[in-house]
This record gives sequence, structure tokens and C-alpha cells, in this order.
Amino acid sequence: MPFASVNPATGEVVETFESHTDKEVEERLQRAADTFASYRWTSFAERGRSMVTAAELLESEQPDIARVLTTEMGKTFAAAKAEVAKCALTMRWYAEHAERLLADEPIETSAAQSYVRYEPLGPVLAVMPWNFPLWQVVRFAAPTLMAGNVGLLKHASNVPRTALLLEDVFRRAGFADGVFSTLLVGSGEVAGLIADDRVAAVTLTGSEAAGRSVASTAGQYLKKCVLELGGSDPFLVLASADLDRAVALAAQARVQNNGQSCIAAKRFIVVDEIAAEFTERFAAAMAGLMVGDPLDPASDVGPLVSESQRLEVAGQVDDARSKGAHVACGGTVPPGPGWFYPPTVLTGVTPGMRAFEEEIFGPVAVVEVARDLDDAIALANRTSFGLGSSVWTNDQSEVGACIERIEAGMVFVNAMVVSQPEMPFGGIKRSGYGRELAHLGIREFCNAKSVWVS
Ligand code: NAP
Repeated sequence: MPFASVNPATGEVVETFESHTDKEVEERLQRAADTFASYRWTSFAERGRSMVTAAELLESEQPDIARVLTTEMGKTFAAAKAEVAKCALTMRWYAEHAERLLADEPIETSAAQSYVRYEPLGPVLAVMPWNFPLWQVVRFAAPTLMAGNVGLLKHASNVPRTALLLEDVFRRAGFADGVFSTLLVGSGEVAGLIADDRVAAVTLTGSEAAGRSVASTAGQYLKKCVLELGGSDPFLVLASADLDRAVALAAQARVQNNGQSCIAAKRFIVVDEIAAEFTERFAAAMAGLMVGDPLDPASDVGPLVSESQRLEVAGQVDDARSKGAHVACGGTVPPGPGWFYPPTVLTGVTPGMRAFEEEIFGPVAVVEVARDLDDAIALANRTSFGLGSSVWTNDQSEVGACIERIEAGMVFVNAMVVSQPEMPFGGIKRSGYGRELAHLGIREFCNAKSVWVS
């Protein structure tokens, strides 16, 4: 089956690629295994040199790479350039810090010497989504390669240009053939890859359904598995919040990446006494955003990634409207080419509506009114997900209560949720397990070997 790169702003096919044959996949798997046998013994300094060169390539080719991202999945050109820059930054961070993060850890025992040593595991398979097509992969690859593992990428089927581009960047940066390989295969091939003896571990970023499938195969073959799945992040606005900042960041946190981010704020939980003012100002901010050609610097929001994704989002909004929710702004599919959808604010969303129960992967915000702090935290936790959360308050006792009681992998106070190399990233509940980034991320695919010398 060929892989098509389709521009979501126009619906036009930009380029197609033949999928890899069984023979090509076999060659790449064997090359990964053979390369790991020598690559694992390379020094941090040597890996770091190639990683920094990869960062330099991203920086010097930033506009061209960003254009590929924008025309392949629709994010604004400004967002695409920022994504490329963040990838370079993360590569540099791991090049600089990997050796320290994986240094032997002494342990006090009765032995003459005892410590934990971190060793690479082998070829790691990464099954990745299209929404941050470069960042999701670099977030996996930079620590994984710096740890001495090699990477096999099965990217989302709709971003083949980005997948091949990144393979090319790593190769030109000086990494040996087989250190990072893209496999142009469909999701039906993933189980066979996990089962293969040469694959040591698997990481998936994507939907719950894909997570279940990958985790069950990984379980069957007893392979280490990390899952970064969906989220329905709460954004709590409490009475003492700086409302100007909360409103501005609320809109940004919802529509970032055209609303297609796992850590986008999706449920806006506002205490009663400021709910009317917040909702009015938030809806005005959302309605004021410019939707249009993602290559046009004037556009704040580009198209959704595909026709099916827009149908899904429009269906969630229509379902809420038909069951009595109020559409404060947006909510109508615009005419014309491209898969655009306007920033939308829903109020009066109740259990039983899809917008209440499901993750909305588009620029649609749900505003819920809470009686008080306890009710706000209860609403925040009333979800099967547990990825990020954002809390807006200037009351220190509320800060403490939220940090302690919100069920999520990440709590950001008076800030929107973001990822960065220094901070561990990941979720609980049905948002997955394991961590990426920082010291925890680089150790996920290491053997923490306990050493005891009498
Ligand atoms: P998706 O359908 O699960 O696709 C993600 C990847 O998994 C793609 O490479 C896809 O391949 C593959 N895949 C799909 N079904 C599979 C299966 N049964 N077995 C093995 N692989 C399978 O995800 P999406 O809908 O494109 O992406 C959006 C989701 O990702 C949202 O839920 C979002 O919240 C989540 N996400 C989470 C994070 C995080 O860090 N927690 C970050 C970004 C996105 P094909 O493309 O070939 O189908």
C-alpha cells in the first residue's frame, strides 16, 4: 500500500511513497541488530558529536523542514518552526547530559562496591503519531540513541515525508547506518515487529486503542513497553486567578497545534463566582482567532489533519448541541477546501454527551462550572485520562490542594502544560505509563544492572 502525504489545507496529495517490502523490513531489522552490537560500545562523546550535528542540521534547515511539517499535517508555519527548534534543543540537551544521567549510581551496602549501572537494551521500536511529527520522534530518539540503543521508527501513515526526512538527518549527522531507521509499514505490521526477537522494547504515542494493542503484544512477548496515550486535560480557573492571563493562556492552550495536542487543555473548569466573566471573555478570545492557510503568518489556527478527524470533531460538537449543550462560539464547518474547523466553546456539557466523555482532538473547549475548590478538583478527576493539568489561582492553600489531589502525570500552576527536555513527561490512568524526557525518559530503555562486588 503506498503512503500518501496529503496537504490538509487543500486536500491535495503532495507525494506518495511505496511501503517497504517484507525483504526491506527484514534488512532494516537485521541492520539494526548488527549495528547495535557495535554502537552500544561507542562513547557518549562520540554519540554526542553526531547528536549535536543532527541539531545543527535541524537549525540550518529549519524553514524547509517546517514547510514539510505544515504541508503534511497542517500546523501553522510558526508552530512548525518552533517544533524544529525544540527538537534541536532537546538533541543538544541529551548530547550534553546523557553521560551524567546514566552514570553509575553508588549504593550503600555491606559490599566492597555496589552500584547501579545503566546499559542499553537493543533496538527499540517507536510507533508514533502525526500531530507533532518531528517532536514525538525526537523525544524518543534523542535519549534512546544517546543511551546506546538503536531506533526503529514506524511513523503514522500520513507523515511519511517527515519520517524519511528525520532518518536522513540522523544519517547525515554521522550516525552509522542502522542506528535510526524508518520502516514504511502499516499498523498491521506492528505486532510482528514487537514479536521479533531482535526488537528489545517498544514505545507508542497515540490513541488508547493502539495502546491496548501494542501493550498486549508487548505483554505476550514480555517486551518492555512505554505508552503515551490520550488526554483530556483540565484547566482549573479559581476565584483568585489572574483572569487576563488565564483567558489568554486558555485560548492558546486549547488551540495549540490546531487543537490536536495530547496536552492541550480540553476541559475548562471554572468556579461559579467568575464563570460568567471567564466564559464570555474566553469565547471572545476564541472567536477572535484567525483560522486559515497555515503558511500565512496571519493565521492562528490551521486545518485539522484529515477529513475523518474533522468529521469526528464536528460529530462530538453536534452530539452535544443535540443533547442541549450551548455553543458559545464556532461549531459550524466552514465551506471551501481544506479540513478547517473554527475555535469552538461549549457550555452546559453533561455526562452522556460525547464531549463530556471523550477526548476532543480539535479546537473545541468545554467549559464546566464548579461550586468551589473541592468540586473543581472532583470535576478535574472525573475522567479516565490522567495526562496533564493546569491550575490558575493566587491562593497558596489552593495551589497545595491541587498539586496534591489532581490525578495526573503533570500539574502546572499559573502556566499551560508544556513539554521540555528537563521535565519528565507522561501520564497515569488511561493516558498510559512510563515517562519520556529528563532522567526518567532516558532510563526507560536501559537495563538498570545492580552490581555487587564483595
Ligand atoms: P493512533 O491512531 O493511535 O496512531 C498512532 C500510531 O499508532 C500510528 O503510527 C498508527 O499507525 C499506529 N497504530 C494505530 N493503531 C494501531 C494498532 N492497533 N497497533 C499498532 N499500531 C497502531 O493515534 P492518532 O489518532 O493518530 O493520534 C492521536 C492520539 O495520540 C490522541 O489520542 C492523542 O492524545 C495521542 N497523543 C498522545 C501523546 C502523549 O504524549 N501522551 C502525544 C501525542 C498524541 P497508522 O498511522 O499506520 O494507523
